[in-house]
Amino acid sequence: MSAVIPIQVQASSGCTDAPVLRERGQREVFCGLTGIIWLHRKIQDAFFLVVGSRTCAHLIQSAAGVMIFAEPRFATAIIDERDLAGLADANVELDRVVTRLIERRPEIKLLFLVGSCPSEVIKLDLSRAASRLSAGLSPRVRVLNYSGSGIETTFTQGEDACLASMVPTLPQSAPDAAPALLVVGALADVVEDQFLRLFAQMGLGPVRFFPPRSALDLPAIGANTRFLLAQPFLADTARALESRGAQRLAALFPLGVEGTTAWLQAAATAFGVSAASFEDATATARQRATQALARQKVALAGKRIFFFPDSQLEIPLARMLSRELGMVLLEVGTPYLHRQHLAEELACLPAGTILSEGQDVEKQLDRCRAAKADIVVCGLGLANPLEAQGLTTKWAIELVFTPIQGYDQAADLAELFSRPLLRRMRLAA
Ligand code: SF4
Repeated sequence: MSAVIPIQVQASSGCTDAPVLRERGQREVFCGLTGIIWLHRKIQDAFFLVVGSRTCAHLIQSAAGVMIFAEPRFATAIIDERDLAGLADANVELDRVVTRLIERRPEIKLLFLVGSCPSEVIKLDLSRAASRLSAGLSPRVRVLNYSGSGIETTFTQGEDACLASMVPTLPQSAPDAAPALLVVGALADVVEDQFLRLFAQMGLGPVRFFPPRSALDLPAIGANTRFLLAQPFLADTARALESRGAQRLAALFPLGVEGTTAWLQAAATAFGVSAASFEDATATARQRATQALARQKVALAGKRIFFFPDSQLEIPLARMLSRELGMVLLEVGTPYLHRQHLAEELACLPAGTILSEGQDVEKQLDRCRAAKADIVVCGLGLANPLEAQGLTTKWAIELVFTPIQGYDQAADLAELFSRPLLRRMRLAA
């Protein structure tokens, strides 16, 4: 069987060695607690207990919305102001809250204690609390901990911290196990199902997804594991998987037709899928997506886009929007630039693209206004003021909540950018 794959991404060195403007000033981003909103939907028997303040409770409730018909699988244990002497009580209280929760909710199989930034919480040793509670509740419930604190994490890093905390609990694969593919990063179920079908059509398997839909269905990992990152913000998770012997397959991220093809190709090459099988499996979906993107290109080609740092999806998005839709990149800001995981993406960005890492929000706002962007991608906190100044914005958080990966979502992703531009045009008409 030949492992030669027919489609190659055409990239010069692009922005591989491009200078990066590093800023370490005031930043306007959500904290890692935000990840709970999509993670609790993904792992359907997990519960996220934020150990935090009233602010944390407010953030989670307002961002996740209130579910009227279903009991939510997240909550906040509010730790009020306490001195060191009060910490023993806080631990007793935490144990009481967790015990009551588990009694009331027998469907919970995995409980995350999620740390936050108030100093009272920082003083609590949540990893020790998780071990203590796990020892008492296992095997019925496993208790893990990670931090979603805004001091340590931005927006999507909460998912990274959550998944990294799960890696040590994954079973070990047998030493002689055949190579297996692990797709890493929370994806919408519909996207997972599409990828599974494509891999099955190529004859590629076994394929597992991490995080799994059930906490009881953990994939085994080891030296036989080849993993593909589905999200660009999973540095700690990737490191933890590599420390268990798993090997990362370097690829573009599966955004747009080109990104999806290159991402699938990386797996196909590693698993010896023939060029013909790859073509048979992907040609129809690829063609359909290319046609759908061509319609979106009419509205987007030549439009100038500015990215504030927020989700860490900025560089793959910029690559897709410039190469497949003809958009002009004014500045691509990212909270953190992981050069190794983004090497393929950087090589595909147009040479000369202005890249920035971190934020000094006032300076960046000045650059944004001066650049006169047609559309600005930013967090919720900046969107309203910028709209009021006449700029068109796209909320970065929407790009994480919406299924955007894969062929069938490529046009939906493009539409997330064309829709606000068309709305602005109609308002101006
Ligand atoms: S973790 Fe920190 S930044 Fe996030 S809501 Fe709580 S207090 Fe605010």
